[in-house]
Amino acid sequence: MESRTKNSYQTFVYDFIKFDILVVCPNCSKSAIVKTNNLSYLNRNENEIKVICANCGFNKRLNEKPESILSASKYKVLTGRYIVIGGAVDPFFYLPLWYRTSFENNELWAYNKEHIEFLKLHIQAKLRERNGQELANKSLGSRLPKWMNSKKNREPLLKSLSELQKKMTKTNG
Ligand SMILES: [Zn+2]
Repeated sequence: MESRTKNSYQTFVYDFIKFDILVVCPNCSKSAIVKTNNLSYLNRNENEIKVICANCGFNKRLNEKPESILSASKYKVLTGRYIVIGGAVDPFFYLPLWYRTSFENNELWAYNKEHIEFLKLHIQAKLRERNGQELANKSLGSRLPKWMNSKKNREPLLKSLSELQKKMTKTNG
């Protein structure tokens, strides 16, 4: 049961990695940006994926990072990239996300402002639903982890998300 909700969350976050992802710079600990340049299943040009820090100038392309060994046998070694989706790190360089906070026993995180905005809209819609209104996108709720949908968490979650949203970055000041 638990792994199922986790998987659906992973499917849903895929929508947000096509935007820039904010991470903690490995060099200066300020906010850096992972540029994914509209990455999708169809467009997977990894030469265009890079991490850039506007504060210290840290700059690395994904193709400068060695590939991982996916499988190895006596005859053949298969290398490739692991794309990590659904953790509090970016999918390519595995750097900790900038927008990350703890919420009770869970980790609340978002890839970017678009992602935070999406989560807020969802929770606000849930709050309105309480007053008898239909939820516009019913499938949405099933794509989020249980604790995010829990009634008692709605107000405090909105508060945490708003606080995350206000977190200063190198790009907005
Ligand atoms: Zn930096």
